[in-house]
Amino acid sequence: HGLSLVPCKSALWLNFEGKRMGPRPLVTAYDTRFLVERICQEPKKYSWQLLNRKIALKEFAISGSEHNEAMRDKKLIAFLKNVLFGNRALVDKILQNCPDMIAADTLEELVKKMNALTGDKAVRLENVRQAMQQYDAGIEQGPPYADEQHRRILHARQWRGDRVRTCNLQKIGDPKAGPFIAIREFVLSRKSLGGIQTDLESRVLTHPDAAGQQQAIPGLYAVGEAAGFGGGGMHGYRSLEGTFLGGCVITARTAGRSIVGRKLE
Ligand SMILES: Cc1cc2nc3c(=O)[nH]c(=O)nc-3n(C[C@H](O)[C@H](O)[C@H](O)COP(=O)(O)OP(=O)(O)OC[C@H]3O[C@@H](n4cnc5c(N)ncnc54)[C@H](O)[C@@H]3O)c2cc1C
Repeated sequence: HGLSLVPCKSALWLNFEGKRMGPRPLVTAYDTRFLVERICQEPKKYSWQLLNRKIALKEFAISGSEHNEAMRDKKLIAFLKNVLFGNRALVDKILQNCPDMIAADTLEELVKKMNALTGDKAVRLENVRQAMQQYDAGIEQGPPYADEQHRRILHARQWRGDRVRTCNLQKIGDPKAGPFIAIREFVLSRKSLGGIQTDLESRVLTHPDAAGQQQAIPGLYAVGEAAGFGGGGMHGYRSLEGTFLGGCVITARTAGRSIVGRKLE
């Protein structure tokens, strides 16, 4: 069973050896396609995120209603509590139940646990330590920030919605923010539907004929993911996570309007 993570912006993205991936740092919610391409260039099929408990409490999130009860059940106070004080229940639940999320008081112990999980000695303590120290030193130095991840965090925090769920340049090695946490992550495809070609009225099109022409098949419509990634494919390849329902609803509305002979206004 896979969990679809919303990766923490303040975590360091490391490869299978514990080296920070780059040269452009990987930060979620900017260019997911680049991020996935970069991870897939690595020889191993997984990557690591290095963070600490303080970051996890503020930023760790899992996509899907079963992991966001407060939002799903419209429990405003519980939701505000999670935003203000961190989602302890979620972090602890995953730490207890998911072998891919590991906590340890020291980096040495953490790396041992990471290697125990993968069953090899691929993660090198010196790589992880170097990545962390460089990142933390950049925060210590202050502006102007040479590390693109620091700049992106500051950029994200300019918007109130991201400010409440993104730490303010949190050092990974901060002794008050521990224990350390490592999360092993796999790239997975969950958007395999789609492919039925439609026109702008959501009518299903025939295969191109010899002249490359396609015709609308009378009475046959396709909407939502069935009509293309994220609802008719309207967001393109670099579509932003969390924006698909809009496309699905619009393709359905377009189909409905077409069926009753009206154009979408
Ligand atoms: C974990 C996760 C998190 C997501 N988070 C977000 C988010 O935060 N924001 C966002 O906008 N989008 C999100 N999405 C995407 C969004 O959920 C989908 O784009 C949307 O639900 C697609 O709607 P749909 O009606 O096209 O297809 P679906 O919701 O997949 O509905 C298709 C239905 O058809 C049924 N079906 C399949 N085959 C048959 C058959 N032969 N006969 C009868 N019924 C059949 C299926 O059981 C299903 O109920 C998320 C998706 C996932 C998986």
